[in-house]
Amino acid sequence: MTTYLIIGNGVAGNAAAENIRKHDPEGKIVVFSRESWPFYYVPALPSFLAGDKAVDQIILHHQSWYDQHRIDLYLDTRVTQIDAAQKFVETDKGERFPFDKLLLATGGNSFVPPIPGADSAGVFTLRTLADADRIRQAAAGAQTAVLIGGGLLGLEAGNGLRQMGLKVFVVEFFPRLLPRQMDAAGAAILARQMGDMGFTFHLGAKTQEIAPGPDGLTVNLEGGEKLKGDLVLISAGVRPDLSLAQALGLDIDKGVKVDDAMKTSREGIYAAGDLIEHRGRFYGIWPAAMAQGAVAGAAMAGQAAKYEGTLPSNVLKVVGIDLMAAGDIDADGKLSAVVHTDSAKKTYRKLVIRDNLLVGAILLGDIRGSAEIQAAINKKTDISLLKGELAQADFDFKRLK
Ligand SMILES: Cc1cc2nc3c(=O)[nH]c(=O)nc-3n(C[C@H](O)[C@H](O)[C@H](O)COP(=O)(O)OP(=O)(O)OC[C@H]3O[C@@H](n4cnc5c(N)ncnc54)[C@H](O)[C@@H]3O)c2cc1C
Repeated sequence: MTTYLIIGNGVAGNAAAENIRKHDPEGKIVVFSRESWPFYYVPALPSFLAGDKAVDQIILHHQSWYDQHRIDLYLDTRVTQIDAAQKFVETDKGERFPFDKLLLATGGNSFVPPIPGADSAGVFTLRTLADADRIRQAAAGAQTAVLIGGGLLGLEAGNGLRQMGLKVFVVEFFPRLLPRQMDAAGAAILARQMGDMGFTFHLGAKTQEIAPGPDGLTVNLEGGEKLKGDLVLISAGVRPDLSLAQALGLDIDKGVKVDDAMKTSREGIYAAGDLIEHRGRFYGIWPAAMAQGAVAGAAMAGQAAKYEGTLPSNVLKVVGIDLMAAGDIDADGKLSAVVHTDSAKKTYRKLVIRDNLLVGAILLGDIRGSAEIQAAINKKTDISLLKGELAQADFDFKRLK
């Protein structure tokens, strides 16, 4: 009987466990999590923050799921050490667990830029349910929040704070919102829309310091502007949690390097999710972590599984704003694009084209056609015959099939 250990109970770890069980009904599967809750839907944390969803509504696998799949789940248990030669892991409780196959699915941590004062009380990051709980408690008695980082997660979390009644100031280093998902024209429309909702934006702004004081925190911007906040939320991206991988001496670049079967540079040790890079690429998105976990699980159970990449696509989950961005959005305008803007309706559509193929898209305000566009990007559908018509406002995207 094979013993499989999985470090990490996020989407990568769970997809792996499920797939191991599918292909190996007998094996022993053990999953460790340093958190107190079983597997939950991380992208719903901003909704939890806003009070729209309770913990129970975001938990995806209750204990009964683990029982049904005969998976031993150890919550509140951090793996502190891995002995690759003797093939065992050790936990913070001093217990040792032997393994035949090991999966690192430890995800990432919120990146905190080296801003003086970033470690002050009242400064938060959002990555886990425990983080969201702490922010909710701090926000309960607060009136203002400064959000450092105008990316997707930041804006969603900021919207959660806004829904709790806080006035939210957003500081973004880039001169536009959502620098990874939007070009300048689309981001300007979005900023106007969110401004109408009550957000205040400071774009192209650099935080110099977070200064604690008797009446809350002051975020000092380069150039002298000062923003007062009862709390500060830093949303500056994610970095793979490499502590265990480094101690093992695994090959690492942006993340732990894996091959198409999610194997690391050490025999019997696999990795998946926000921890890894695959073919030089770091994803940091749920569908990629899920697909990688599924391949890792199948491969660990002896199947010839292969991961070939995921088309990055994002949706901004802010009620009242429809936004989808997928593939190469060509923010610098280097490729050709078909753009349709309707200022009155506050809609913006950009379809990016290279060599008669759709390679990326931004849909703001009207996301009809999202599925068809993503499918066309994925399948590399030749659109040469439709190019002339794509700019029409009412183009029927079903024709992309
Ligand atoms: C607020 C927020 C919103 C997001 N929204 C979206 C979205 O809308 N769409 C999207 O595609 N993606 C979104 N993401 C990203 C997405 O959630 C991640 O890509 C995904 O959760 C990565 O899964 P993972 O399993 O690799 O890691 P994680 O979800 O980080 O899970 C890692 C697990 O490992 C455990 N762990 C770590 N170290 C140890 C250790 N030493 N011992 C034991 N356990 C350990 C952790 O406790 C955790 O259970 C969002 C992320 C955040 C934070």
